[in-house]
Amino acid sequence: MIEKRNFYINGQWVAPAQARDHQVIDPSTEEPCAVISLGGDADADAAVAAAKAALPGWMATPVEERIALVEKLLEIYMEKGEDLAQAMSIAMGAPIDMARTQQVGAGAFHLKNFIRAAKDFQFDRPLSEKFPNDRIIYEAVGVAALITPWNWPMNQITLKVGAAAIAGCTMVLKPSEESPLDAMVFAELMDEAGFPAGVFNLVNGDGMGVGTRLTGHPDVDMVSFTGSTETGRRFLGYSAESNLKKVVLECGGKNPCIVLEDAEDLDLVAEQVVNAAFWNMGENCSAASRLIVHEAVKDDLMDRILARARDWRTGDPLDPASHLGALVDRGHLDKVCGYIETGRAAGASLLLGGEPGAPGFVPPVIFDGVSADMAIAREEIFGPVLSVLTVSSFDQAIALANDTCYGLAASVFTAN
Ligand code: NAD
Repeated sequence: MIEKRNFYINGQWVAPAQARDHQVIDPSTEEPCAVISLGGDADADAAVAAAKAALPGWMATPVEERIALVEKLLEIYMEKGEDLAQAMSIAMGAPIDMARTQQVGAGAFHLKNFIRAAKDFQFDRPLSEKFPNDRIIYEAVGVAALITPWNWPMNQITLKVGAAAIAGCTMVLKPSEESPLDAMVFAELMDEAGFPAGVFNLVNGDGMGVGTRLTGHPDVDMVSFTGSTETGRRFLGYSAESNLKKVVLECGGKNPCIVLEDAEDLDLVAEQVVNAAFWNMGENCSAASRLIVHEAVKDDLMDRILARARDWRTGDPLDPASHLGALVDRGHLDKVCGYIETGRAAGASLLLGGEPGAPGFVPPVIFDGVSADMAIAREEIFGPVLSVLTVSSFDQAIALANDTCYGLAASVFTAN
């Protein structure tokens, strides 16, 4: 059993103020694989105090030095990619190949892009030609609380930490309690890269504990949150009730994928639809979970989609032959299965899947005959479930695509 009870505060691994063990469950076995601590107010406060104390020094550090530290981080990140991939695969069920290439790869991609963008960015520039002595100076917002979800953990953590570090912010990361192990490996990398004490801090905890303490904290100047829309809504209230801190939210989606009657190369379309719907077990904010297809190409396309989806192997995340791993936990799996029942009861027809898989697993599910009012067409399922809606015109496709309370991602296949 992996034991990672300490938090990373002010450049040190420290014990929680009060012991509160939390078992991390490997969803593919439904057995505990690690124990961490859930922090409390005192731990969150200590991390914020460390970040606040480190802020003046870090803001004043020349941006070239901040970039150089992120470059060092990237170098170590690449060396330790396998540790990160294993940690993600064990705790959130991502297939190991996908964890190595995509989950770890996404983090490297973001760090590289931040470094490149920062080198081209003018942090200090004249207001205009007319006023050459008046300057626009970009400086750090301050202490940032970074709250991340479990589904693309390293993607979200690097997006937040890379940007904050280069901008001169100090930070407190609270990763998801479902997939905290990769975040703890990441904290070790931050330490090894040599960021000054207090610039980066990590406190594990749950949403109602450390999460609310950080977001309501008067010494936190900004919170960057990625997670569900339901949770995201609360952050504006936390900000209003504390210090009107800046809030950045990245929330859920029910993303349309439109295939018009003139779409060419239906094999390629089928490949993209299957990937976008089922990749990472469909646990993607940008999953193409609503296929809106023109009746003229539908039968042909569905044959190809079904042939591909049937080939997707669901199984042990650590087996490189698996395309789909386990859903993150029992509660989430029950929620996804509940949606499958809701779809059946509403009269949608199951083209694929829908029968119970091995404990922890849901093989790909495709529903046809879905209408816009069904819950499986409207709500984020966050699992490997594709809902197919058929249209007879372009306008109908656009109207359906826009008929959603979400606005995250969308795709369209057309030759026009
Ligand atoms: P979640 O909202 O349950 O939790 C996200 C994080 O917020 C976790 O760290 C959690 O502990 C914390 N949290 C929960 N309640 C809180 C509260 N009241 N106050 C402060 N913090 C709180 O989301 P999840 O289940 O971990 O992640 C899945 C969701 O994330 C999906 O809806 C998905 O679409 C979304 N997501 C969005 C993006 C994007 O870029 N838009 C990317 C990845 C995931």
